[in-house]
Amino acid sequence: MKKMFICGNWKMNTDRRSAIALAEALKSSPSASHAVETGACPPFVYLSEVAEMLSGSDVSMGGQNMYFEPEGAFTGEVSAAMLLDVGCRYVILGHSERRHVMGEGDDLVNRKVRAACAAGLLPILCVGELLEEREAGQTEAVVERHISRGLEGVSREDAGEVVIAYEPVWAIGTGKTATPGQANEVHLFIRDLLGRIYDSDTAAKIRIQYGGSVKPDNALELMSQSEVDGALVGGASLKADAFEGIIAAAAEACG
Ligand code: PEP
Repeated sequence: MKKMFICGNWKMNTDRRSAIALAEALKSSPSASHAVETGACPPFVYLSEVAEMLSGSDVSMGGQNMYFEPEGAFTGEVSAAMLLDVGCRYVILGHSERRHVMGEGDDLVNRKVRAACAAGLLPILCVGELLEEREAGQTEAVVERHISRGLEGVSREDAGEVVIAYEPVWAIGTGKTATPGQANEVHLFIRDLLGRIYDSDTAAKIRIQYGGSVKPDNALELMSQSEVDGALVGGASLKADAFEGIIAAAAEACG
């Protein structure tokens, strides 16, 4: 059965002590169950300590980014193998902050996705439109480009393990959430697109998370949508009780 996946993106937040404390709280989440997979993506420098804290629990860990080369003179970068080495299962790629603040384009994101898959690290590929793109009626075109370019050269087998996070940029960290209907409409479009790129079985296997100001009080309605398979959570993942509330809502949504 496809599990809901609730993953926290801690971004450039926490310090050593609060990262370990957050991991400790997450580890004892009462709502993480066989139906809901939970994960956390701490800053690189705290990955090892968070991994140690999470060890023996069902909570998985991910990196927030990586470079596509396996090793070498790439100052400031980390490789897929390094993330695996410290216990990561996932890596967030193509996050809107990487695309729009750091200037990453589709080609770079695609190289990273392919390198992650080749190394056995599961990409969480983030896609989503800017406010002006939504207002110009370009949401589907942008999402289609992010997905078709992001997954170029990725085999059907590897694609089945990829997680897609639909994150409308105008909803990230703004307190504005896409309505459950708006989110599901884009998720349906993504599911159909994945079916066209691969096949309907592969499309059905791929988990599509929603991200953008998910909070305990809006999570149940969002997670109850037919095509929403979890959430990528920024701000609310930094507070253990709020994140726990989102996990509980996901557990309720899948019955
Ligand atoms: C994110 O950055 O992936 C995100 C969804 O952030 P927030 O939940 O704070 O909107």
